[in-house]
Amino acid sequence: MPYSIALDGPAGTGKTTMAKLIADKLDFLYVDTGAMYRALAVYFLSSGTDTGDEKAMEEALRDVTVEIKHENGEQRVYVNGDDVTARLRTEEVSKMASVTSQYAAVRGKLLDLQRSLAIDNDVIMDGRDIGTVVLPNATIKFFLTAKPEVRALRRYNQLVEQGKLSGATLETIEAEIRERDYRDSHRKNAPLIKADDAIEVDTSELSLEEEINQIISLISERIN
Ligand code: C5P
Repeated sequence: MPYSIALDGPAGTGKTTMAKLIADKLDFLYVDTGAMYRALAVYFLSSGTDTGDEKAMEEALRDVTVEIKHENGEQRVYVNGDDVTARLRTEEVSKMASVTSQYAAVRGKLLDLQRSLAIDNDVIMDGRDIGTVVLPNATIKFFLTAKPEVRALRRYNQLVEQGKLSGATLETIEAEIRERDYRDSHRKNAPLIKADDAIEVDTSELSLEEEINQIISLISERIN
């Protein structure tokens, strides 16, 4: 049986950076499930679907195919054959993904795809419900947390570095993160919660190197 590592937690806890580094170190496949929800959000935005109307959402989803390809170690997401990877990381898409991911039809559309990737591959998968819903029997589960102000500052610095701040301030970013956390944690379907058997790691006071070392040593105890 392949190994699977579940990495859940709210936005800005460093899951993606961490998962990529661990995947490289262990030669596991990295699966970014947030990117799948973002890809559907791109589709909803471009198709003008009424995201307040569950029936309209269900109908729109009938015509959509989502595919994942790994090219040079990078995950790429295709919607109806188009590579939308470059369009996933805007604040508009973040918000739309968080609004639309609450629908059962949206989650159902992605669940089989996510699980299928863990059947033949050793995977590290990050998201909100990996340990609770997608891979309840994962080899090891982590739940990353960090104070909202720390997460907002990380996101702010990242946007500055990428030259993509476009009018956002530390305050607006923190408000957006808190709003997204609230929606993700309070939805009916697969809310963001720690699995009972997940190991909680608070990254607020840790450097990336410390986080990686801590997590790798916990994984090494479980895998061998
Ligand atoms: O992880 P990322 O910030 O890219 O996720 C974007 C949004 O997708 C989250 O705010 C959440 O609403 C949704 N998501 C989810 N379940 C996952 C991964 C992401 O609901 N497993």
